[in-house]
Amino acid sequence: MEKLAIDGGTPVKTTPFGTGKRFGDQELANLREALETDSLFYWGGKMTERMLDRFCEYTGAKYALSCSSGSAAVHAAAMAAGVTMGDEVITASNTDAGTVLGVLYQNAVPVFADVHPYSYLMDPADVEKRITPRTKAIIVVHLTGNPCDMDAYCALAEKHNLMLIEDCAQAYGCKFKGRIVSSFGHLGCFSLNHYKHINCGDGGVIVTNDRKLYELAHDFADKCYDRLAAGQNRQLRRVWTLAPNYRITELQSAVALAQLDKVEQITARRHELGDRFNEGIAGLPGVHPHKITPNAYATYWFSGVTIEPEAAGVSPQQFADALAAEGVGSSYLGYFSLLDHELFTQRNAYRGTHFPFEGGPHGVSYHYDLADYPNTAMMQTRFIHLPISEFFTNQDVDDMIAAVGKVSAWYAAHPVKAAST
Ligand SMILES: *Cc1c(COP(=O)(O)O)cnc(C)c1O
Repeated sequence: MEKLAIDGGTPVKTTPFGTGKRFGDQELANLREALETDSLFYWGGKMTERMLDRFCEYTGAKYALSCSSGSAAVHAAAMAAGVTMGDEVITASNTDAGTVLGVLYQNAVPVFADVHPYSYLMDPADVEKRITPRTKAIIVVHLTGNPCDMDAYCALAEKHNLMLIEDCAQAYGCKFKGRIVSSFGHLGCFSLNHYKHINCGDGGVIVTNDRKLYELAHDFADKCYDRLAAGQNRQLRRVWTLAPNYRITELQSAVALAQLDKVEQITARRHELGDRFNEGIAGLPGVHPHKITPNAYATYWFSGVTIEPEAAGVSPQQFADALAAEGVGSSYLGYFSLLDHELFTQRNAYRGTHFPFEGGPHGVSYHYDLADYPNTAMMQTRFIHLPISEFFTNQDVDDMIAAVGKVSAWYAAHPVKAAST
């Protein structure tokens, strides 16, 4: 048996992971074209219009509107869905803050559902348990580019008469039963920030098939300027509610438009590499591959494994350290949960008050404790986050498979005493 690199053996991976450039000539050409019009304002801008047309084509949606970020998109979607003071919105315990910021700005309250082990997607059965007469919406999060079971969520929304928003920030190109995510809910939200499958630095898009929701979100993301109504005898500046400026610019749209030419290639490659990795590590004792939803097409925004210490013979932290020593350097243990951040532990949304967790119209007091979410807690203690990129070669992934296999084989044969978390 080969000695582990962490104990002085030879590392599995000695060549650098594949890298590449995300922006090229098309982005530059679009930027030049935008600048040459001498206006970078989104409204009336050709780049934003073309980018949104492409989003409609890509997702099959009737309407698309732009925002300044993915968080802005979710906020505008929540507002359009009617989320307001005292409402509850159920979402995933392990999502990005961007999923819930808009809910809180609407003075509504996020209610977190626990996730499934190994997929770490929000569990529809746990979501249903948390529905109350105050629940207005569910925000489904297709975390890591792994689609949620949308049969279950569409049925839940229908049964309880709830608005359904899909947070697709990590889920470009994901499909459930052959149908692209963002097309199941009333509204679908995308992020174009630097870290996503495609990006323009920062940006966001909402897609919907509902004209009324589209108009509401459009007004809201643009300070209530009723630009869609121009020429329809309505007032352009009719400030009928509190609304932020979440506008995109032509510069961002120019880059996003060029990125949309690449999105299919990027997601197809990640799908291929992610599946290759999962298949390659199947069957190792106490090493659980990331569980992909049945009948789903995953596009792997990131990837990972869960280590069950008793069966693997080693603690997840030691496994992660050993993997890093084998040359899979950007592996690390744990994943983000809002549940252990002060916004929720201290119920600190607005300074000097616990509102809206306290003092809302229904007299309900909301408390958050990670201990009530065993699978979310497990993700923090047992899930090892692994790198994946469309620029990786097959060899890169095969090296990762070999590294996981090597570390697993060693500790299975030489279990570390009292290995547990
Ligand atoms: C990135 C992300 C967001 C927010 O996107 P920003 O563009 O950074 O505001 C929202 N939800 C999820 C799940 C994300 O990963």
